[in-house]
Formats: sequence, structure tokens, C-alpha cells
Amino acid sequence: MYDVHSKHAEDFINHEEILETLAYADENKHNAALIDTLIEKAKKRKGLSHREASVLLACDLKEKNEEIFRLAEQIKKDFYGNRIVMFAPLYLSNYCINGCTYCPYHAKNKHIARKQLTQEEIRREVIALQDMGHKRLALEAGEDPIRNTMDYYLDSINTIYSIKHKNGAIRRVNINIAATTVDNYRLLKEAGIGTYILFQETYHKESYLKLHPTGPKHDYAYHTEAMDRAMEGGIDDVGIGVLFGLDKYRYEFAGLLMHAEHLEAAFGVGPHTISVPRLRDADDIDSSSFKNGIDDDTFAKLVACIRIAVPYTGMIISTRESQKTRERVLHLGISQISGGSRTSVGGYCEPEPDTEKSEQFDVVDTRTLDEVVCWLMEMGYIPSFCTACYREGRTGDRFMSLCKSGQIQNCCHPNALMTLKEYLMDYASPKTKAIGDALIEKEVFNVPNEKARSVVLENLRLIEQDNRR
Ligand code: SAM
Repeated sequence: MYDVHSKHAEDFINHEEILETLAYADENKHNAALIDTLIEKAKKRKGLSHREASVLLACDLKEKNEEIFRLAEQIKKDFYGNRIVMFAPLYLSNYCINGCTYCPYHAKNKHIARKQLTQEEIRREVIALQDMGHKRLALEAGEDPIRNTMDYYLDSINTIYSIKHKNGAIRRVNINIAATTVDNYRLLKEAGIGTYILFQETYHKESYLKLHPTGPKHDYAYHTEAMDRAMEGGIDDVGIGVLFGLDKYRYEFAGLLMHAEHLEAAFGVGPHTISVPRLRDADDIDSSSFKNGIDDDTFAKLVACIRIAVPYTGMIISTRESQKTRERVLHLGISQISGGSRTSVGGYCEPEPDTEKSEQFDVVDTRTLDEVVCWLMEMGYIPSFCTACYREGRTGDRFMSLCKSGQIQNCCHPNALMTLKEYLMDYASPKTKAIGDALIEKEVFNVPNEKARSVVLENLRLIEQDNRR
């Protein structure tokens, strides 16, 4: 039975309900009248249910699909403007006791170089990231309760927030670590994390159990109910995601939306972000041996349908995707991307020799942050290094209500321009700086409120003179 409020994973991500949803979507994938009604409903920008959105995902009517893409693009513009938030992952440790069959960290992999950063190594990695211009990190680690303890994570977060170096400071630390207890989530919250990120990997329980044959992650309910515990522990920004390629994408899509519906119903606030990673080759992982991979067209449709179904939820794409794919999906709904990423432990200070692989997956977009920033601006996007919402406590439900009412535009656009200006002054190459300055000059006139515009102009002038507030 699908019970959106239930505390039990198998009620709120109910297998029978997903199968019925998929059958309903199949029956209606050519039903132009219903699809028109759903598109009209989605235009109200209040989102769609998992059943409704699944019909749009299944739809294979060319004209209707074009409408779906146009609507996703419009919703993206309305809610997020042309801003793209920048971040980088920081791999702390690849020690892991789980047996995930798709991940090179799995415990049986005896030849991967295992590493855990010391606090001094974290300092060095963070300074390297600050020297690129990053302000926002996502911490990553395998699951190893003896080595990767909660104390280790808390020390690492403290270390990172305390590093001041030139003009750099990491202002938001997000964290992607294994499911844990309410008490530990409370400690993470007290340490000042931004978003707690945990990918479901797959919502298909039977597949989940096979893909995670050993270790604590085998417990499907404990993993699936992690966000409930995180919210009970006071974390109001949670990031969910699926690893596309493990099971059928339409099943995962319905599961993702049901998870979002559940969090909204049970806690009054849906997920802050949804990530859309696709399975990649890695050390001893051959992604072609997994049979549910999706092509780029399907991936684009998926991004568009997520955008329409949950307009107020940020969407993240990593360097698992190529420049070309990222370019294709950015305007359909992505609001955050990583740049200049290294997925090996310690990789920012010392790129790994070929003989020593500890990367979690092969990075496809290998450009530097400066190149990514320049590329975004050439396409008319504003790379944003802003973390103001987090600093001012506008997270969780407060952020959602701002976003739902469209108000976020009034403060995000100015903040994005000012933080971009700081980035250009401190870190950009001459080419990137020239493109960025021209973009800012144009974009400042898109600040809607006149008073706000003159404040921004004054702040930009002060930043230019290296006089920062
Ligand atoms: N240990 C944490 C957990 O249990 O969720 C964090 C996992 S890991 C550092 C972050 C994510 O990388 C995983 O959740 C998984 O979705 C993804 N990942 C693992 N293997 C991958 C692969 N071969 N290709 C792409 N992504 C992968």
C-alpha cells in the first residue's frame, strides 16, 4: 500500500504502486488529451505527482515531447534564472566494508590503493580547492565504521571551515556519507553541514539487495529511511539521487518522486537537491556489464521530467558527464555542477600515477574550474559561488517557500553577480575575466528592483577596488 506518510520505506516507496504507475504510464503514453492536461497542470509550476510525471516520461509523441522540453526550460529559467551554482567533491577516504557490485571501493577490491586523508592532508587539499576558487564542497567517503568514524567527519568539517587562506574560505560543506543514526545526523547539523546527500542507488528492492550483497548498506530499509532520520536530527537540506544504469530508469524515476513526495508530506519540505549520476567505468568496474544504461536522449528527457515534476528542487550534475552532455541538460533543469573535480583521495594536491588508482569513477569532464566557468559564461550562464542562503539560515522549508514564491530571484541574482566578480578578481585567467566582466555589466541590469540594483553596482565597484564588505 502506498502511504506517503508512513515511516516504513516499503510503504512510501511501494513496489506495487510503482508497477501500477508504470502500467498506467504505458497505457497513456499516446493519450494526447491526458498529456495536454498534464502539461497544462505542470505550467502552474506546482509540480506533478509520480503517476502524472511518469506519463510524461513515457510519452513518445514527438510534438508533446517538444512541449515537455520547452516547459522544462521555461521552469528552469523562472525558478533559477541563468545561474549555475559551482561546487567540488572532496574525497576523504575510500576505505569501505560494503560489497556494492558497481563501486570500486567494494571491500573485495584488494588492489585499489586505500587512503584516508589526515587533517593536515585535508588542509592541503582544501587550500588547493580554494586556490581554484571553490567555496562549496561535497565531502565523500566509503563506509568504514572503524576508520571513517563520526568523530573523523566532525574533525574534518571543523578543519575545513577553519581554513582561511588568501581570499579563500569554504562557506558550505555538504556531505555524502553512509546512512547513519539520528544522533549522528544531529552532530553533523551542529557541525554546520549544508546538505546531507545520500543516493538511493536503486529504489528496486530486489535489485538493491543483489547490488549490495554484503555490509551495512545491504539493509534496504535502513538506507531508504536515512533521510527521515536526517530530518529528525534537524538537517533540513537533504539531497537524494539514483545511480542510473543499475535498474530500469522509469522505475527509478517513479521511486525518486515518491521519495520526494514522502519527505514533503512527512516533514513539510521536499529534498533540497536531486542528483542524476550515471554509472561509469572505474578501477575494476566495467559499466557495460550493467544492462540498464540509458542513452543521452533518454537522459535529457529524464532531466526535463524531473524539472517539471519538482520545480523547486535543485538538480545536480557531476563530472561523470561529458561537456557535451552537460551542455545539453543544463538548460533543461540543472542548477548545480561540479568543476575541476578529482575523484581520488588526495587528488587535488597530487594527481595519481597510473599505477595507483584510488578514484571512485573515471571523470569524463576533465576541464579545470576556470575552463568550466568560462564555458558557462560563453553560453550566457552566471556561475555562482554564492552560499548566502546558507549563511543567513534560509535553508529547508524557508528556502522552499522563497523558491516556490519566486522571491529567490531577487536575492540570488545579485549575490551570484557579486560572488562571480570576486572569483574573477581572485582566480580567473585573463580570458575568463574579460568574458565575466562583460557578462556582469550586462546582467546587473536584470536585477529587478532599482534600489537593489544600485546596491549591487556599488558593491561591484568596491570589489573591483579590492574593498570587500
Ligand atoms: N559511502 C556513501 C554511501 O554509502 O552512499 C557514499 C558513496 S560514494 C562516495 C558516492 C556515490 O558514488 C555513490 O552513492 C554511488 O552512487 C556513486 N558511485 C559509486 N560507484 C560508481 C560508479 N562506478 N560510477 C558512477 N558513480 C558511482
